[in-house]
Amino acid sequence: MIKLNFVSKIFGLSVLLMFTSGLLTAQIENAPKRAEGDGPFDTLIIRGVTLINSTGAPPIGPIDIVVHNNKIARIAQVGYPGVPIDPKSRPQKGTKNSKEIDCTGMYIMPGFIDMHGHIGGKNQGTPAEYVFKLWLAHGITTIRDPSAGNGLKWVLDHKQQSRDNTITAPRILAYTSFGQGESEPILTALAARNWVRENAKKGADGIKFFGAEPEVFRAALDENKKLGLRSACHHAQLEVARMNVLATARAGLTTMEHWYGLPEALFDDETLQNYPADYNYNNEQHRFEEAGKLWKQAAKPGSDKWYQVMDELIKLDFTLDPTFNIYEANRDFMRARKADWHDEYTLPALWRFYAPSRISHGSYWLDWGTEQEIQWKENYRIWMQFVNEYKNKGGRVTTGSDSGFIYQLYGFAYIREFELLREAGFHPLEVIRSATIKGAEALGMDNVIGSIEIGKYADFVITEENPLANFKTLYGTGAIKVNAENKVERVGGVKYTVKDGIVYDAKKLLADVRAIVKKAKIDEDFEILQPGIEK
Ligand SMILES: [Zn+2]
Repeated sequence: MIKLNFVSKIFGLSVLLMFTSGLLTAQIENAPKRAEGDGPFDTLIIRGVTLINSTGAPPIGPIDIVVHNNKIARIAQVGYPGVPIDPKSRPQKGTKNSKEIDCTGMYIMPGFIDMHGHIGGKNQGTPAEYVFKLWLAHGITTIRDPSAGNGLKWVLDHKQQSRDNTITAPRILAYTSFGQGESEPILTALAARNWVRENAKKGADGIKFFGAEPEVFRAALDENKKLGLRSACHHAQLEVARMNVLATARAGLTTMEHWYGLPEALFDDETLQNYPADYNYNNEQHRFEEAGKLWKQAAKPGSDKWYQVMDELIKLDFTLDPTFNIYEANRDFMRARKADWHDEYTLPALWRFYAPSRISHGSYWLDWGTEQEIQWKENYRIWMQFVNEYKNKGGRVTTGSDSGFIYQLYGFAYIREFELLREAGFHPLEVIRSATIKGAEALGMDNVIGSIEIGKYADFVITEENPLANFKTLYGTGAIKVNAENKVERVGGVKYTVKDGIVYDAKKLLADVRAIVKKAKIDEDFEILQPGIEK
């Protein structure tokens, strides 16, 4: 989801882009200098953890992990479950600038990668600090910004500060929305190639497309690939009939976002979505309601066509980044609106941005009810089957959230994506793999992040609860458990997020976010009210 760039793409009004990127740059609050986190250390030792890696290996522990500065130096097996650890068998403390954390009984995973992480900004009214802290507090140590909606310059500036660890933020990859910064629409293959080269020169990591005229689109993808950069596409309906995911994957696209373009590639007895006569793309209730019937219009699961398309995409090494969570309000509107975290973690401006409206993008709750939700439940069933089978046949599926739209909050929505991948049929270890090494592969960074292995960056998620047993324990609001004394408790939430060998107390980051929200509520005399309810 992204509103203004998206609209401007549709109409080819790149002028609008220029204005919006200028406006956004001016209005998003920069991240403040880092005041959080311990480290990096010459030697950091994390002791006594159970390792949940992304290599396909089962959990194993107790383990001590040794980090030098920002790199993993040693992974030592130090004992057996239920047996006291012999201290002599453990790595010894370093001499200077050394730190040990006792994580006995805890779990450690590679840092999470959010493959669809808009940084928010003017539309959402979200300062960068708020977004970055919500991400880190949920174990997200790397994000891909699909569109660089605050302007490429702003994003690259924050990317550098994150790399230097002078701000509290995940690693950032910038995929500029195609055409950003141009005063004229890109209408020729030559202009497309020039823009792509310029984008690479500026330091972008890739391009985010929404669709384009085929000759222009193919030229842009080709040039981008030649330069060794990656690409993402939200196949918007206005262009998807000319190039669906098979066409774009063949032309060099590396990842697809959401799901649009996939059912279209699977059409076997039609060539267009079954649009009713009174359809109007600018009526978003209509757009999303009809989209909810789309998977049913595609080739049947298990059919020859179903597997032909799947097999070809896998052969092309194509990545699916489904972002299941961002459509969840379509199948359960109340669940999305009433999520546990809104009260303390959703900023007033963001709540207003979500409000039903005929104008705002992703706010199409004009008359959304049982019939629409049932259609969407069915849509999900088929879509999830495709994604799960894609994974089973060796295809790459990543984890992305698209937060900041449709009642989906930064960090929390990413964990919800774990639950939805699980619902699609992924084993919990396959979910963790999707959230870590699969993302790293799609970004071309699997040599440095995505797994806990010697030589890689020290990016970790450390938890007290076993995430494989219940992903809800990863939510900042925790999971509900009744203890032996029949008392209800909240357990979980990430304990530590480690990025580049810097140890962040995830609970403290959450407290900072609650304080930002609390202050905004007092300043604006605001309370969260559900749509149609007045004070
Ligand atoms: Zn998006």
